[in-house]
Amino acid sequence: MQGLMMNYPLTLPHILERAGKLFPKIEIVSRLPDKKIHRTNYGEFYKRTRLFSEALQKAGLKPGDRVATLCWNHYRHLEAYFGIPCAGGVLHTLNLRLHADDIAYIASHAEDRFLVVDDVLLPVYEQFKGKHKFERVFVIRSEGKPLPAGCEDYEDLLKTASGKWDYPKIDENDALGMCYTSGTTGKPKGVLYSHRAIVLHTLCGGLVDNNGICHNDSLLLIVPMFHANGWALPFICAMVGSKLVLPGPHVDPESVLQLFDSERVTFSAGVPTVWQGVLEALDKNPGKWRIEKGARLACGGSAPPEALMRGLDRHGLYLKHLWGMTELSPLGTAGYFKQNLGELPDEKRYAIRKTQGLPIPYVDCRIWSDTGEAPWDGKTMGELQVRGPWVAGNYFKDEGEGDKWTKDGWFRTGDVAVIDEEGYVKLTDRTKDLIKSGGEWISSVDLENAIMGHPAVREAAVIAIPHPKWDERPLAVVVKKDGADVTLDELKQFLAPKFAKWWLPEGLAFVPEIPHTSTGKIQKLKLREQFQNWKW
Ligand code: ADP
Repeated sequence: MQGLMMNYPLTLPHILERAGKLFPKIEIVSRLPDKKIHRTNYGEFYKRTRLFSEALQKAGLKPGDRVATLCWNHYRHLEAYFGIPCAGGVLHTLNLRLHADDIAYIASHAEDRFLVVDDVLLPVYEQFKGKHKFERVFVIRSEGKPLPAGCEDYEDLLKTASGKWDYPKIDENDALGMCYTSGTTGKPKGVLYSHRAIVLHTLCGGLVDNNGICHNDSLLLIVPMFHANGWALPFICAMVGSKLVLPGPHVDPESVLQLFDSERVTFSAGVPTVWQGVLEALDKNPGKWRIEKGARLACGGSAPPEALMRGLDRHGLYLKHLWGMTELSPLGTAGYFKQNLGELPDEKRYAIRKTQGLPIPYVDCRIWSDTGEAPWDGKTMGELQVRGPWVAGNYFKDEGEGDKWTKDGWFRTGDVAVIDEEGYVKLTDRTKDLIKSGGEWISSVDLENAIMGHPAVREAAVIAIPHPKWDERPLAVVVKKDGADVTLDELKQFLAPKFAKWWLPEGLAFVPEIPHTSTGKIQKLKLREQFQNWKW
């Protein structure tokens, strides 16, 4: 027997309507390129977004057409976030930190028709415009500079709308947006999100155990809106009507902390390197900025070290650990303490906080080892595989990536992990970053995490280097703190209580900086190239 409920579509216009009707007075604050603060609210956002949708249709947008954005985080990017999908188009956020050739490849592959671009990012656009021709280019102008030839003003586009407009018919399975994985492994691949996936993910992502965002929050979005849907936070904020603070291009620690202070931020989100910088600034200037009581920081993208969590705790900032991927819209697991664990000693609490957390509702997780599905014993390592309603079922144009999905319908994350008896998922590495020493696996992530707890270390990466006897051995690559020093022996002594002897780094190399990807991950491939001639 079928249920007798309405067949109400899970599409984005509902969230836009809700924000406009219920929360018109709630603020959206943006820091513009010249550092000035711009204030608007969901009421204005609602009106302007609908004008933008209408204007896009007038400009010739057809259902399913891709519209790219090349923008920092600010209110007009938010208008595009909602305006493109609500007009039936597909929001394609371009990663402005990629090499121009990669951006061109991605825009061509996605067949983007229109582009919305910040004037301060026109130099990036100039570098790839010869390689992909957009039909129309709308420039968001903050500096009043003249428009380049062939470009139009975003505000002029809005003026072409009448304000009397209704949404097109959108099926919940229609595409809403797309993001390309930043290509840490091979060519960038397009992930195509549906309205249904994003709406369900928005509902789940906001839950207290996951991000835990409510109407009374003031949310500072550090994670770029081009990185995996801005971790879905723009959608969650509009749904619950929380205040939204958008930092523009200014994401250095001082600027971030100023916003914490002036906008009374209660929730923020970013990769570990952002919080590392914030911690150093707070350590240098304790008490300089007001931090709201109970403020939380969502952190993912790579593993946050324990020393970072402890440090932030000292300043009243609680780091909430999440794991996700572009292919998961992006959220997969979230860290919190299960009540059956009772009162836990400090050490145990941090041990749990270091795990990537528990699978969120509707994301199934399993570990696939050499011998099949692994038990949840916290020991048996294998590939983390997932499935769920906001997990990609294929890449755009099915780029011969069939091996990313198992025959029985699970997505292969490429992450190596264990799951313990309680269901906590703990990542040990990406498949290609594991270190095989004497036939046993060593987790570079665990070692890095521990090394970053040493007082002389600012950042560390551990890579595998071929070894004549042991196959591979771990090399610690370290950025020292200003004026500090450490030797290999001292580092080994520091690590010895936490690891088996054969896990300890075989060598230590100092570098002025560790290379990162455009989304803040350590570029292990680059490091392995840099140290390919390393001699033990
Ligand atoms: P890209 O691979 O394009 O940089 P993603 O952001 O989709 O972009 O990367 C997802 C990967 O990031 C995951 O497969 C995992 O390896 C890593 N990652 C994400 N969150 C965490 C986390 N909390 N701890 C460790 N690694 C993480």
